[in-house]
Amino acid sequence: MEGTLSSHQLSPSSWNRFEECPRKYWLSRQRLPRKASLPASMGNAIHNSVEEICNLDVSNRDDSETGWLSKSMKEILDKHWEIEKKIFLETPRRPRWKPHLISKAREGFIGALNILFIKSKQSEKKFSEVSVGDWKNIQSILLLNEGTLVSEDGKLIGRLDLLVNDLDNNGQSKGWIVADLKTGKPPQKDLNERVIRQLLFYRDLLKETTDDYPLVIAEGWYSSNQEVYPAIGESVLIDARKAWEKMKLTSEPFIGTPNFQSCKFCEYKAWCPDWWVARSEGVLSESDMFRDEVVRLIRFDETSGAALFERQSPLGKDGEVIESEIRFGGFVKDRAFEQISELISSGYKGPIFLGSIRAEGKIIHLGDWSEILRWSPLLKSIRVN
Ligand code: SF4
Repeated sequence: MEGTLSSHQLSPSSWNRFEECPRKYWLSRQRLPRKASLPASMGNAIHNSVEEICNLDVSNRDDSETGWLSKSMKEILDKHWEIEKKIFLETPRRPRWKPHLISKAREGFIGALNILFIKSKQSEKKFSEVSVGDWKNIQSILLLNEGTLVSEDGKLIGRLDLLVNDLDNNGQSKGWIVADLKTGKPPQKDLNERVIRQLLFYRDLLKETTDDYPLVIAEGWYSSNQEVYPAIGESVLIDARKAWEKMKLTSEPFIGTPNFQSCKFCEYKAWCPDWWVARSEGVLSESDMFRDEVVRLIRFDETSGAALFERQSPLGKDGEVIESEIRFGGFVKDRAFEQISELISSGYKGPIFLGSIRAEGKIIHLGDWSEILRWSPLLKSIRVN
């Protein structure tokens, strides 16, 4: 291994990524083009809307005013939805934008606020009946809303969604709740270990960076089912610092650990030779209806979008590929059509990564859900610092 590169900070997500596959983590630090995702955009829209409405200045308004909440929620969510849409559409690596998902974002926003209502011990009310005074009560239990915590040694970083006063039935504080707002699928029963560790990480980092604190608990707030899941356990910061040591970036890639779970949604496949080697060795299956390939383009008809591809077999472990006997036809349309046309007009003739292709028998289909990129295994860090 050559010398380590720039300093780094461990966050719960980078820690998880490193454990899933060290190479995935290493590639994620190479400033490669990121892929936009609809769940991420929706999560951002909900998080930012919750943050904005929690910070809404109602101090000069009459406590008895009602009928304002739904209107404010709509304005705020619409604004953040538009912001996310713009970022999404400006990202070259992206699927198709789905405007109807705003209704799902709206449900998530409502779900998150309902949890806040419960935590502030407000009696159940329709949003149209929530007064400015009720909202001031909610704001009074919020101690921190979207804050970044960094450990004193600079090694650990965490972004806290909410720090909330934990009220007993008499409305008295019995401690603090570190709450992480989750906009994805809730667990069927208990939180999985990685989510527990993430929540404990926020709890422990808060305690490490705060002089005086009461009892602190950590919870995952799932907006889609409006359920709260507590995370209980010992401090995780000793393990986090041990992981930080292993995560120092080197100029050579970290080892890859290809497996179905890690590779399935990995956005760095076009830069990683390991999954393709694992596929050719039978360690990873290709039986999925949606699959990825490394191919050469043999023929392409720009009128119909019909294409003939030849699968490329790995030669060694470093991403070099050679022709194989395996050819298959496909139909390319929409965004995939644009991408393949760009590759052709740039004069590129090398191997191509096809991501998320839909296979129907021997024919493959590429469309808005797919990606077509140059096959570019990365064997040296391209970071300059
Ligand atoms: S494709 Fe698989 S092996 Fe390669 S970096 Fe991603 S997760 Fe790791």
